[in-house]
Amino acid sequence: MTEDTRDRVYGPVPSRRLGRSLGVDLVPFKTCTYDCTYCQLGRTTHKTVERQDWVDPHEVVNQVRTRLDAAPDVITIAGSGEPTLHSGIGDVIAGIKRSTDIPVAVLTNGSLLGLPALQRELASADIVIPSLDAPDERLFRLVNRPHRSLRFDEVVDGMAAFRENFRGQFWLEVLLLDGVTGIPQQVARLAGIAARLAPDRVQLNTVVRPPAESRAHAVPTLQLQEYAAAFDPQAEVIAPAAPTMAGLSASRADVLALVTRRPCTLADIAAGLGIHRNEALKAVTSLVNDGRVVSATHRGALFYMAVGPVDRHPTKETP
Ligand code: SF4
Repeated sequence: MTEDTRDRVYGPVPSRRLGRSLGVDLVPFKTCTYDCTYCQLGRTTHKTVERQDWVDPHEVVNQVRTRLDAAPDVITIAGSGEPTLHSGIGDVIAGIKRSTDIPVAVLTNGSLLGLPALQRELASADIVIPSLDAPDERLFRLVNRPHRSLRFDEVVDGMAAFRENFRGQFWLEVLLLDGVTGIPQQVARLAGIAARLAPDRVQLNTVVRPPAESRAHAVPTLQLQEYAAAFDPQAEVIAPAAPTMAGLSASRADVLALVTRRPCTLADIAAGLGIHRNEALKAVTSLVNDGRVVSATHRGALFYMAVGPVDRHPTKETP
């Protein structure tokens, strides 16, 4: 066990695709098999393919149990790194399934899905959402900057093997970068690979929060909508709007926990914690004044994020 088990569960927070999502964070901050240029969490600080028992699965499940009265729509294993790097993810899923009927989703970059042990561990999840961001080795290296041991063809073969045996919902997320993968020729190639994986749903995404690299640019929404038709089944464009939430109370600590996991606009904070915008503004302003949170503008929107990884508990869109 390499890390304490405090604060592994957060939210519920608004997810653009899953509704009100209770998040479960299984690995230390930015422990990942990739270092994506678009990552909203910044550069990967621990790039690895070695699976470890970073936190005690039983402690995590106990934390989930204490939050079930918030009545989330889904419990999402995601967080601030690649969750399948936790070797006990199967125990976490099994423990949650014993505690509640709320569906369990796993957000993963998909890089390890070819591992037979991991395939068994994820078998009882309700939804698995892997990523496909590139159509070939060159763009895989450019966009995802994977661990040196990972090969594009092997990752896709692994996702296909997982898909073949998995009985739950298999949704594929395709994140497009303007001028790189978000161009017709590359979208057609991505659609061909996606068809081989036969997902239940395809979800098109782009850069919606401040990325690790300023050269990672968003594809305009209208363009995404045009590209959606290239996929079978037709892709859904993940809309930036988040559902409204009510009945939740918030504190400065809640706001800090939220912006630690991902950069948030004021509207994200208000919706995520079920509070009025003025209350969200008051809390976040106080955190900015204390130096715990900073703001940055991205695509015309003001985002708030925690300062440094110091007390961040360690995707693609986190829930
Ligand atoms: S976007 Fe996800 S897969 Fe990519 S570096 Fe960030 S946490 Fe890892």
